[in-house]
Amino acid sequence: MVYTVALTGGIGSGKSTIADAFARSGIAVIDADIIARQVVEPGKPALRAIVEHFGADMLLPDGSLNRRRLRELIFIQTAEKAWLNALLHPLIQQQTQEYIASASSPYVIWVVPLLVENNLSAKADRILVVDVSVATQLARTIKRDGVSLEQAQKIIAAQATREERLAAADDIINNDGEPQSAIAEVASLHQRYLTLAAQAAA
Ligand code: ATP
Repeated sequence: MVYTVALTGGIGSGKSTIADAFARSGIAVIDADIIARQVVEPGKPALRAIVEHFGADMLLPDGSLNRRRLRELIFIQTAEKAWLNALLHPLIQQQTQEYIASASSPYVIWVVPLLVENNLSAKADRILVVDVSVATQLARTIKRDGVSLEQAQKIIAAQATREERLAAADDIINNDGEPQSAIAEVASLHQRYLTLAAQAAA
């Protein structure tokens, strides 16, 4: 299996910004959010199972999943959230492993926002946390997504804390400053991961 570095961080911390820098070094980037959307695309068995379980009004007119409605439903009904997770998590995991196995770079960056929340640390060989203060997170999320302070606070409160994430970290990039200073740290991490991947393969 290709050496896997999980890249995690809270909302608006800068995961995509850092992942892009690894990609520019020729490293394959696998995005957990994209995979989570792929497994419920029209035509996929998971979407059929969701419609059978919750009804056809979980679909938008174009036949794709009405994510907002599903999100609202599982927010209220916890048992349904467990049902959905039991359906989707194995499929997401399987697809992730397939992407990792077929990657042709010396190691892969697996961008996984909910690594800590979903207890996925053991699936990675190494954990890189993009760390920012909550104040930075709030400011960047409000600016990028156009949400209110209250909405941004609510999202952050529903995620793992900064301390929980840092406790899982092997490596940390602080991104409170200019993007360029965080991106500059990628070069030395890249060298470290090349070495670790070579050692793991030996
Ligand atoms: P999410 O998980 O919420 O999608 P993310 O962790 O991938 O977010 P990014 O999208 O990389 O985070 O960054 C969040 C926002 O902050 C973006 O608009 C990005 O351009 C901006 N940003 C990232 N790093 C910095 C920085 N060092 N200084 C200023 N803005 C930044």
